[in-house]
Amino acid sequence: MKEKSMPRKSIKKLLHDARVAQTHWRTVSVEERARILSRSAETLRDRMEEVAELIVQENGKPQVEAIGHEITPAIANIRYLCKQAPAVFTPESVSLAWLPHRKARLVRVPFGVVLVISPWNIPLNIPLGQVIAALIAGNAVILKPSEVTPRVGALISELLAIPELPSGLFQIVQGDGKTGAQLIRARPDRILFTGSVATGRKVMAAAAKHPIPVTLELGGIDAMIVCEDADLEYASSAAAWGGTFNGGQVCASVERLLVHEAIEEAFLNRLVDKMNQIRPSVGLGPITFAAQRQVYDRHLSEARQEGLTFRCGGDYLDEKTLSPTLICGAEIERASVYREESFGPIIAARTFKDDDEAIALHNDTLFGLTASVFSRSNKRANKIAGQVRAGLVSINDIAGTLYSQPELPWGGVGHSGFGRSHGHEGLLETTWTQVIEESRAPNVEIKRPWWYPYNHQLEEIMRLFGKAAGESSKLKQAGLLAKLGRHVASMLTQNPRI
Ligand code: NDP
Repeated sequence: MKEKSMPRKSIKKLLHDARVAQTHWRTVSVEERARILSRSAETLRDRMEEVAELIVQENGKPQVEAIGHEITPAIANIRYLCKQAPAVFTPESVSLAWLPHRKARLVRVPFGVVLVISPWNIPLNIPLGQVIAALIAGNAVILKPSEVTPRVGALISELLAIPELPSGLFQIVQGDGKTGAQLIRARPDRILFTGSVATGRKVMAAAAKHPIPVTLELGGIDAMIVCEDADLEYASSAAAWGGTFNGGQVCASVERLLVHEAIEEAFLNRLVDKMNQIRPSVGLGPITFAAQRQVYDRHLSEARQEGLTFRCGGDYLDEKTLSPTLICGAEIERASVYREESFGPIIAARTFKDDDEAIALHNDTLFGLTASVFSRSNKRANKIAGQVRAGLVSINDIAGTLYSQPELPWGGVGHSGFGRSHGHEGLLETTWTQVIEESRAPNVEIKRPWWYPYNHQLEEIMRLFGKAAGESSKLKQAGLLAKLGRHVASMLTQNPRI
């Protein structure tokens, strides 16, 4: 349903109210902010069943996934953020090697008003984690949830209905892409965007006008690499789940499968057998967003036209369920189903001859979000993992599971975006770093030798500085510094600074 865009005046007021609230909130200590925000985790825990029900109703995912992939990790993430924030945001002292009489500290300053724009596939956990990270850092937040899941978005307001939070500090704006674009034009101070590459480009272009720093958490076509020494029974179960959980509507679901040629048939036969068992009755979720079918249909029909082999699936079990689909074939590398994100329960498989080829095939994509390597040799798997271009690589597990681990920074490279959510990095993304530098002995300042007037002696002092900085021998460096000191003393006597 298309919604009307918001009147410009209301957006202006929204930003104004957020700025007023943030001015107060940023003065509250981070410990206190953490204490206040941790209540949202308690509310979520207490309302778990009701929230799960809402997610199931609106998004369609099974109850197990609503609790296990949304609510439980969201609670764990809020608790993690509240625990870690005081240490992460403690100013860091820095000693200055060339100005030993001075000292500096790095202070993390909240941006001001952070705009969070989120997708429909994980409608609670994705926005909630970013909202809490931004708030705990001392920002105000405006959230635009997906128009596909507005009720779950609105629920975040209820979780944050905490009396100590200043009014206007957290606001939700419901609407479609137009509303998201309007909010960017209203100039928030920071944008945390999660969604498709196409929209990510638009968001970045719009943000560039002001310019507003953005984090882009975009799509992925996760590749699972299965070596010939992998535990085939285990790895085929992992692939079957990794390619289809949440109905395959996961940025980190297994979309490409790279299998060593020696185990191709043994592995794929097991996988087909398992994918054929994955039906709504065992937990396969439906298509949440009907328009997504257009992508599946294009990928499937192009794969058919190109003569690729459908090892299973390719048909709809009902209007809302695509049967888990495995596609192979010699020419698969050129196919859209292998090159583009399907965001559905579809896996495109290809064989490799050796590890170098597996790595090359893995990296032959513009995306780089997640990957997994299956092998009984940890050494070999680690070697491959170190060479694949992906933000998160899991060895003998599905990397998508890592989104539930609050300690791990989440994000990709290339078309999968940049910036991180989760972990310390996710917290730091919501702040900018201010350096404050001062004397170790305040009020005993002398004019700096490098101030005016410039002359040959100052030039020589600068030269000696460079030589001393580049000298690796401590003894020689001490000699250069002593000489430098003599030059400085004589220059300051003969040519006092202006
Ligand atoms: P979209 O890019 O379609 O939408 C994402 C959000 O952006 C929605 O809230 C949408 O509003 C909004 N939006 C649309 N147009 C604009 C605009 N011009 N300016 C500002 N905001 C706009 O993504 P989907 O919701 O379809 O989500 C699926 C995509 O998200 C997949 O590509 C998936 O891989 C990716 N994703 C990435 C994750 C990651 O961690 N890297 C995690 C989850 C998903 P509305 O929907 O109301 O139109």
